[in-house]
Amino acid sequence: MPRPPLYELNDVSYTYQALKAPPYTALRGINLRIEKGEFVAIIGASGSGKSTLMHLLGLMSDPGTGTLSMTGETSTRLDVNEKSERRNKSVGFLFQQFFLLPQLTVRENILLPTEYARSGLSLQQWNERAQDLMQRFGLSEQADKRPSQLSGGQCQRVAMCRALIMRPEVLMCDEPTGALDSATAAEVLGTLVALNQQGHTVVVITHDPEVAARAQRIIQIADGVIVSDERRSDSPAAPRKLEQSGSSTSSHELTQGFLNATLNFLKANVRLFFLPTLQALKSQRLRTLLTMTGLLLGVASVFIMLTLTGKVQDVFREFFETQGARKSFVSFDWRQAERTGAPRWQGLHVTEDLPRINQQIVKYGRLDPTIDASGCAILSPEGNYQGNLTGINSLREVEENALRISLGRMPLPHEYEAVPAPRIALLGSDAVNKLFPKSTRNSAAGSSLILGQTVRIRGCEFEGILKIIGILEPQDSLFNPEINSSLYVPTSTLISGGARVYNTRFVAVPHPDMSPTWFAQYIVNKLKLMTGNRFPLRFFSFEQELEKFNLMMGILLGLTLVIGGLCTLIGGIGVMNIMLVNVHERIQEIGIRKAVGARNRDVRRQFLLESVGLCFLSGLLGIVFGIAVSAVALQIAKSVLPRAVSLTFGIEPFALVAALVVSLGAGLVFGTWPARRAADLQIVDALKQE
Ligand code: ADP
Ligand code: MG
Repeated sequence: MPRPPLYELNDVSYTYQALKAPPYTALRGINLRIEKGEFVAIIGASGSGKSTLMHLLGLMSDPGTGTLSMTGETSTRLDVNEKSERRNKSVGFLFQQFFLLPQLTVRENILLPTEYARSGLSLQQWNERAQDLMQRFGLSEQADKRPSQLSGGQCQRVAMCRALIMRPEVLMCDEPTGALDSATAAEVLGTLVALNQQGHTVVVITHDPEVAARAQRIIQIADGVIVSDERRSDSPAAPRKLEQSGSSTSSHELTQGFLNATLNFLKANVRLFFLPTLQALKSQRLRTLLTMTGLLLGVASVFIMLTLTGKVQDVFREFFETQGARKSFVSFDWRQAERTGAPRWQGLHVTEDLPRINQQIVKYGRLDPTIDASGCAILSPEGNYQGNLTGINSLREVEENALRISLGRMPLPHEYEAVPAPRIALLGSDAVNKLFPKSTRNSAAGSSLILGQTVRIRGCEFEGILKIIGILEPQDSLFNPEINSSLYVPTSTLISGGARVYNTRFVAVPHPDMSPTWFAQYIVNKLKLMTGNRFPLRFFSFEQELEKFNLMMGILLGLTLVIGGLCTLIGGIGVMNIMLVNVHERIQEIGIRKAVGARNRDVRRQFLLESVGLCFLSGLLGIVFGIAVSAVALQIAKSVLPRAVSLTFGIEPFALVAALVVSLGAGLVFGTWPARRAADLQIVDALKQE
């Protein structure tokens, strides 16, 4: 069976279907066979259809009617990817305009087709091939230069290397010397002849008779029709066989090939990922930065909000807990009484009413009185000040209030109920300094001398002398600024010294399994019932406040996420816009990449990765910005909030993940359409774009 010819065209025609112009038939009734090893020149006047024919031979477009087969394979039977593979593997292109990528070096331009190659050469082997080619074409010195630094002749030699790197079956040249001076043109022509002698099939399109004169076969086209097809007898030396790459591969080589292909893929992707993104950044600096700002702010606001709300909620929970999150205050609502003209409530008798009520509610919890004496003159031998006495009811209550002794001792359990009540007091941490400025000035040893000393109280409900048994550690409170300058005295002591025995404000402490809010409400109802519903009573529950606060934070978080989402949307649309501009400005590059074998999905992946890269970079900057803002905000909060609140800056992993997911997601979502547009471009149209 005879080998099929390289090309066989039967009655091929091609019609351009432009959008706003009438259809134009550029080729008609083309019958043509091209054998392997031929050197064919296609000549004809400008506009006669030569390039159109070359696009068909190069599988860059399909015939309108008729059939074109390449090595026995009909073009219509090849799908888009198979055509890409053929272009990559079997055809080397040489164009009048060189079509090098300006942002790549000579070496990278030569290696461009290998990015899309599926044969298993390693990066190093490709590099060696490129090296050999550069040496052969005198480009070794230029390897790291960019096309703009080269002469026209050098550019065409780079293009020649690129066309040869995949060792194609046919070299497809469209006016290869059209842009060169005559000396350089002769050189390029000489090279083509030499390549043909080494076994390459060469198809040259030209209107230059000198070029045509070197070919074995000259096909002339006029107005889309072949008008003559001559073979010359004095053909150059018969072609030698082209060196074949080994056709039998061992399994070892296959594994090696697979590994190399994987490595190639990774390496190509890293390059595709970062290089173009950085280039886009460089060439359109301002536009890109402005575009990135929207996304950056979106990501930053999501990050900041997730970080801060988490922190603030933790802090508040912790804070309420130290304040006794499970306790509530039940009190006479004098504000409402004033509004409604209700009578003033006398309160409950602390030693008669309260124990009785406590017995009735023992199943649910207990009610502690809040007896105090305010505006007292407190005097010691060393100093005096105006302050409050706060009643404490039991050791348990003291512990729940997080009062901690720093020196001396707490009252003993029996001292709360002893009759007569013992005259003892605990000093708040600031009270010590006010009452004993000299003793505390130099040492802690001085403070211990204070224990056992007495202070005199007058000018308020309580009159008398108290013995100091202990000094408290400093505490924090959002509600009581006097907390550290107060003296803490058993309630029974306060009452025995003259303090009011009727109490209108209580601390309601439920059992551990009871809801504090429910218990407080229960107490209010009970007291109202007991007093004939004549007095307005109210309660304040930490638990309820915490719930309100959490709800507020939730709303705030939701709002910020909506705003962050909007910022991300706007930023994403900006990214889509800049990617569309990017695609538009690089149409020719896309055409070149496709011509050398990039499949649609390669192009799509490239642009998708670019948009993901851009968004990822914005996201990273957004996170850095978010970290900075969160750190500053926490620092400010720290200086405002009480000391004991533990605020340390830490990155919430969830916020980090959310920010990264948002930015990567935006890159994917908003990059899809531009990437698809890039991928769907037609090669021939793309190459024509200036
Ligand atoms: P040549 O390469 O021989 O100069 P071409 O093959 O490029 O000619 O073009 C052949 C004819 O087809 C020309 O008349 C040209 O105007 C027309 N043509 C080329 N490209 C298009 C196109 N994209 N849309 C419409 N007409 C086209
Ligand atoms: Mg042309």
